[in-house]
Amino acid sequence: MRRLTFIVVHHTATPGRATSLAAVDGAHRRRNWGTTAQPAYAKPSALGYFVQYHYFINWQGILTQTRLEREIGWHANRANPYSLGVALSGWFDPGYDRAPAPAQVATLRLLLRKLADQFQIPLAQIVPHRHFAPYKSCYGANLANDWARRLIS
Ligand SMILES: [Zn+2]
Repeated sequence: MRRLTFIVVHHTATPGRATSLAAVDGAHRRRNWGTTAQPAYAKPSALGYFVQYHYFINWQGILTQTRLEREIGWHANRANPYSLGVALSGWFDPGYDRAPAPAQVATLRLLLRKLADQFQIPLAQIVPHRHFAPYKSCYGANLANDWARRLIS
């Protein structure tokens, strides 16, 4: 098992209500991340998804695991080898979705608590994607840097 020290939370940067797991899976498959540099990323996960996050939570709060924790995802730059990726459907920048749906927040809270306990990840290491990619707003400028970690603190 690889050593997991961060949980990186994302938004899909697409309209929350309209974004299905199938749409995200198709987008990641077509993007064909890492085909040349990292051929492993071009294959589906052991769970059959091309989604590069480990978990996806749709607008209705339904959780799907898309990669095993031991499988590296292509979602957080240098943190990929030591992180898990969790994505919320939605676009939490000004002018798009204001905030995640209450059902998503409830699911995310349960998931973060479980993962933080299971892998002994400190609260300060539950971060938005922009923590590792400052040129991005992900998980959206509407949500503070400590928004996700505060759900379980
Ligand atoms: Zn992201």
